[in-house]
Amino acid sequence: MPEGVTVKIDLARIRRNVEEISRRTRVPVLAVVKGDAYGLGIKPVVDAIADLVEAWCVFSAAEAVDAKLWERTGKGSITLSPPSTNNPKFYLKHHIRPAVTTVEQAQALRSAKPILCIDTGMQRFACPPSQVEAAFRAGDISEAFTQAFNIEHVRKLKELAGDARTLHAAATKLLDQPEAWLNAVRPGLAMYRGAMKVSAPLIEAHDTIGPAGYTGFITPRHGVILCGYSNGLKKGPCLINGQRRNILEVGMQSAFVEIAPTDNVGDEVILLGDGLTEEEVAAAWPATPQEVLVRLGKSGKQEYA
Ligand SMILES: *Cc1c(COP(=O)(O)O)cnc(C)c1O
Repeated sequence: MPEGVTVKIDLARIRRNVEEISRRTRVPVLAVVKGDAYGLGIKPVVDAIADLVEAWCVFSAAEAVDAKLWERTGKGSITLSPPSTNNPKFYLKHHIRPAVTTVEQAQALRSAKPILCIDTGMQRFACPPSQVEAAFRAGDISEAFTQAFNIEHVRKLKELAGDARTLHAAATKLLDQPEAWLNAVRPGLAMYRGAMKVSAPLIEAHDTIGPAGYTGFITPRHGVILCGYSNGLKKGPCLINGQRRNILEVGMQSAFVEIAPTDNVGDEVILLGDGLTEEEVAAAWPATPQEVLVRLGKSGKQEYA
């Protein structure tokens, strides 16, 4: 039994998630694999779902180039961050379509078939409404998107970009709203939900005597795991032998957990998965479910199934 943290990635679950999104929305999936596929590992993830998706969304072009997304999968990429270079040849060579946000970028990258990112409220990495028409013309642009977090942002995109172009807006948050599906969806989190299980065994189990730990916690009984804040862990819920427990204190590379009289050394402490959801952990930290995945994905040795 390994003493440290194990991160199990269920690639079949990611496939089922993507299939379910496709079936429900009936539009192409632009799979968001930025941040090393939210910590789940970009290469295994793209290999597992390449036949199900239209293209990859990365943050920077370097992510697509380093993971060789085109060579591995035969599917191109879209960058979501502002262009790192205005040389269209670079993007063409790597089968990347850059998201552009200004008239100048649109003009310079015209031959790389840029996509216009339109500001509908986020006020970051996006073209202001007043520049949209000029950018469309400068880049001969046929596709546009926005980072939408409510339906008003979707309506604004339609209003600004018109019906003649390919449009997409919905990330995970708007996947349950048909009006947001438009011509494609751009999910990240929704592809990865339930696919990561993080656990570490109890390496010690004690009946607690008085205040314990740095913080002087008081509890009937406590255990220790070899996972701490350097592994990305924060105080929150965990599961031990099927029961919800609390992480009492998080140190650099270890943590104290509340345990029952029957819990013992070697028992598995589940930090994510097996019914303990990203949302539940996120609410306790507090953080977004995306942050929970990215942190815990890097917390230990990754195993793929
Ligand atoms: C990260 C990102 C997404 C995916 O977001 P989720 O909420 O994880 O689905 C979609 N679109 C853009 C522009 C993004 O930056």
